[in-house]
Amino acid sequence: MLESPNIVRTTCAYCGVGCGVLATREESGAIGIRGDPQHPANFGRLCSKGSALGETVDLEGRLLEPQIGGKPASWDTALDLVASRFTETISEHGPDSVAFYVSGQLLTEDYYVANKLMKGFIGSANIDTNSRLCMSSSVAGHRRAFGSDTVPGTYEDLELADLIILTGSNLAWCHPVLYQRIAAAKIRRPEMRVVLIDPRRTMTADIADIHLKIKPDGDTALFVGLLGFLAAQGAVDRNYVERYTSGFDAALAIANSHDLRSIAARTGISPEELRAFFELFTRTERSVTVYSQGVNQSVSGTDKVNAIINCHLATGRIGRPGMGPFSITGQPNAMGGREVGGLANMLAGHMHLEDAGHRQLVQEFWDAPTIASEPGLKAVDLFDAARAGKIKALWIMATNPVDSMPEADLVIEALKTCPFVVVSDINAMTDTTCYADVLLPAAGWGEKDGTVTNSERRISRQRAFLPLPGEAKPDWWIITQVAWRMGFAAGFPYENAAQIFAEHAALSGHENHGRRDFDISAHSAITGTDYDALSPFQWPQGRDEPATEKRFFGQGGFYTQDQRAHFIAVRPANEEAIDPLFAFTLNTGRVRDHWHTMTRTGKSARLSAHFAEPFAEINPLDAAEQGIADASLVKLSNDHGKIVVRALLTERQARGNIFVPMHWNGQFTGNARVDRLVTANVDPVSGQPALKMARVAIKPF
Ligand code: SF4
Repeated sequence: MLESPNIVRTTCAYCGVGCGVLATREESGAIGIRGDPQHPANFGRLCSKGSALGETVDLEGRLLEPQIGGKPASWDTALDLVASRFTETISEHGPDSVAFYVSGQLLTEDYYVANKLMKGFIGSANIDTNSRLCMSSSVAGHRRAFGSDTVPGTYEDLELADLIILTGSNLAWCHPVLYQRIAAAKIRRPEMRVVLIDPRRTMTADIADIHLKIKPDGDTALFVGLLGFLAAQGAVDRNYVERYTSGFDAALAIANSHDLRSIAARTGISPEELRAFFELFTRTERSVTVYSQGVNQSVSGTDKVNAIINCHLATGRIGRPGMGPFSITGQPNAMGGREVGGLANMLAGHMHLEDAGHRQLVQEFWDAPTIASEPGLKAVDLFDAARAGKIKALWIMATNPVDSMPEADLVIEALKTCPFVVVSDINAMTDTTCYADVLLPAAGWGEKDGTVTNSERRISRQRAFLPLPGEAKPDWWIITQVAWRMGFAAGFPYENAAQIFAEHAALSGHENHGRRDFDISAHSAITGTDYDALSPFQWPQGRDEPATEKRFFGQGGFYTQDQRAHFIAVRPANEEAIDPLFAFTLNTGRVRDHWHTMTRTGKSARLSAHFAEPFAEINPLDAAEQGIADASLVKLSNDHGKIVVRALLTERQARGNIFVPMHWNGQFTGNARVDRLVTANVDPVSGQPALKMARVAIKPF
């Protein structure tokens, strides 16, 4: 029970931890923010970004009315234009000539409606999302191993584990409340061990008992080496492997072809350190391996995920308290997007686009005129196709690809080439809105209703507590209005977010019979009042059982055809020869107090005080060789372009590597858009770009 009617229970707008927030409308008009003590993700904690949410909800810079060609227009005129241009394009060039590029910032209800329109009514799967850049390698790895995109564990496992391995994750800055939960658990149980695997010494190293300074992209080799070590030590759980898995021998054969010395060469970790880590894992049953973008954002991201999962399957350490592989999602609703099939190769309700039975089931449930039968264009391919003139109408929702995509300058070319570009956003001026033919004002955090799903499969409500500003509308409403005008009114009868959630829940249980992981059908009859009051819950059950019953796979029951988990016989990637002209490896990522392209966090002076400007972390020895002084300006360049940022010399950075934050956009500083330097190489399985592995030259500016 809340102590005042002015307090609204909602969920943070930022990362995949999914913290509960209590927002209070003060008499002064200010928005008070504090952590929700009853939310099971954070129990009242918030990080710097979450606690500053109230400073980011002003209307400065907001897009408050539809615009066509930069001029104000009525909703009717703008929606008619969008619908007619999409309809004409489809009729002239076919359904695959149009595309949506959406976002992990969308609420599940927005995502559901966008996916339904594209896959079931337009008949193309050309809907992809910025979540492709965030966690699609984890999705692909889960699908290969489990037959479903399932995170097996819960946050509680991080507190129950005796060993936490953090690989490719600066949890302290990117998922701060989870870091705080682990830190608190480690104080309660000092025997808990934490191993950090990261080329860089990040703030997360403060909690680590062991920091393995791995070479970039050395993770597959490391976990292949661990699998071989486990087998050699007799630590494989033969009973689990034989009862619940397949493919172990092939994975082990590869592992056995690498000795400790060769793993050391590929990872850059000494044989002694490797042995110490392997022995620690071998003797610690309650082990959780947490991984994030350092694993996912790689040309071998999916193999890395499966190399990690292989070790947990081999030891049967999955789906039991304090054990399991654990992918932590970056965005607030990347998981919700996965649930509704918001990726170009997925279908709604965790169903599979490549499965004819699933396609028929979804089409019938939607009473849709068609259903996409081939995977659509993944993010990098989607913008390449637009640049090649193959995508002739593109609708971008709640994301800023001119800053965030690899080879970001090519996205500008794509938007200039595409004959019709629509952007729905809360901001009038971003690096992407500049290229829109039509701008549609979207409702933002605090103004709209819906749900988000966090990294432990917990669905929470975001609730409106502010009036819609100007003529802004929720994304689901905008998409629905376009669908009506395209002639699909019967398929989109929605008047509020609750109706969409109820349909989404009903689809999750439709002819499911326990054969799919995702099931929230307990909520399929939910109405407005119950939706307003909906408490956070974890799927699949949709009710409030203890967290210990919310794990998957402790007793098998995988979603593959043979109902076994599949070991994947992954091989360590071969190291690329280094071009001496571009001798440095550029790693991009987050800082503690900013989010994505800073369109929200950039409004808070408090958040901007942590780092006032973009920078490059450089090892002092590399800087000395290049004649770069601390705090001087430095130029990073390659064939794609150049950026200029401040040099930050630190021994946290390994030699030969550079870290530049991803946040600064062209509105704040025109020459620090780091993703323009990242080559658009992608993982061949997931299509996720290698945003942590660009080659650059550095010079004093
Ligand atoms: Fe928001 Fe993530 Fe911080 Fe929680 S940890 S308050 S979800 S940014």
